[in-house]
Amino acid sequence: MLIAAMNPCKCGYHGDPKRDCRCSPREVENYRNRISGPLLDRIDIHVEVPAVTFQELQGRGDGGESSAIIRARVEAARDIQGQRFGAATTTTNASMSSRQLKACCQLDETSRGYLEQAMNELHLSARAHDRILKVARTLADLAASEHIRADDILEAVQFRSLDRKLFS
Ligand SMILES: [Zn+2]
Repeated sequence: MLIAAMNPCKCGYHGDPKRDCRCSPREVENYRNRISGPLLDRIDIHVEVPAVTFQELQGRGDGGESSAIIRARVEAARDIQGQRFGAATTTTNASMSSRQLKACCQLDETSRGYLEQAMNELHLSARAHDRILKVARTLADLAASEHIRADDILEAVQFRSLDRKLFS
């Protein structure tokens, strides 16, 4: 598994609610272009992480789910995937073949509409299209939903944030 982090821009404050980014749009674009599109394409999930305040660092972490609870949910989703692929060598949604993708990621009319709109408006690649379906399938599994729901597609599209053109 690859997990990578990058600053949003050269000064580090782009998108920060409390501090202003000092970079010009061109500088932000140049900075982000240092990571190639084909590389970003191969990363399943892009997430923006806001800066943590001193108070949050000092907090006791109340209200959040425990790792044990999250682990149980992930294991349940893994079980569903194990049953789905049966004797096939595939064990996770991420490693589905294109044939399995077609069979296991059927969309209803609404979901298909959302995905088509995202593909067109965000100019997503065929690879991103398949990643959205796989991530949506996993979101549905985490919720123990047999079918991919429209919300799963919308959430999976959100995880392609770095594919979007910043300034069009
Ligand atoms: Zn900046």
